[in-house]
Amino acid sequence: MPVNTTPRPVAAPVYGPVNVTPDARRVLAAFRGSVQPASGNAKTGPMVTTYSSPATCPTTCPMYGPARPDGRASGKAPCYAAAGFHTRTAWNRLASPDAGAAWPAYLARVRASKGPRVRVNVAGDLPATPDGAIIAPALMALARAASHDGSRVAFGYTHHARTPANLRTLRAAAARGLTVNASADGAADAFAVMAGAPGVPVAATMPADMPAVVREEGTGRRIVKCPATREGSGVTCDSCGGGVPLCARASRDYAIGFPVHGTQRKRAAAAIAFVTARAAGVTA
Ligand code: SF4
Repeated sequence: MPVNTTPRPVAAPVYGPVNVTPDARRVLAAFRGSVQPASGNAKTGPMVTTYSSPATCPTTCPMYGPARPDGRASGKAPCYAAAGFHTRTAWNRLASPDAGAAWPAYLARVRASKGPRVRVNVAGDLPATPDGAIIAPALMALARAASHDGSRVAFGYTHHARTPANLRTLRAAAARGLTVNASADGAADAFAVMAGAPGVPVAATMPADMPAVVREEGTGRRIVKCPATREGSGVTCDSCGGGVPLCARASRDYAIGFPVHGTQRKRAAAAIAFVTARAAGVTA
């Protein structure tokens, strides 16, 4: 099954310093990333995975933790990447300017990685300028490198603000073979994104007791529980969807729901409540 059916451009130019703004150039110059050829992460399974430095995380994310002065993840965020010891330790290394790979080398490593599936940014997010705009030329280059120009499955998530420009950039990345899910918090937020941004895949944190499918009354919109979170399923991202993980399906007509669990449950539930309240105009 194809990941998506949109025709992809052939041999598009790779990111070069001439086609981004000075702000974007500074962000990319500070970027550090890593590529794991066969992840030991129990959730993803043994697929190619990548990390981006903690500085890529948007402060608008409701799960953003208080930053430490050295730019490392504090571990106080409900975000699982910052809270899990092993992931946080590996991720924090990328806060050092001499760790991991700089942007061009990172792209080269992503492209050189073998394996039929790639999950980008198990920790970290997409490079964006200080005003929250995803750097489109950089994401297009990542899309081409991760998907081997559209010939392998590549996916990830972003908590960057869902501005019209960012949504256009996500659609363009999907057309180049990298499906980036817009992250939502709770059912109301997920349904709002689905309604307002058709064609952008959505993934949402959900209450721990979410059922297998949550439906929005009267619209047919659905949130399907991630199969890996079903007790005893044995599913990983690598085996999900018979080789085409649900989260990589750019044209699917349902959102993916991730029930929050473990020690992060309380704080993530608070983040959902915050976003729900914000959507309802209860808080800024
Ligand atoms: S739905 Fe599939 S691809 Fe998405 S997180 Fe769950 S197991 Fe991974």
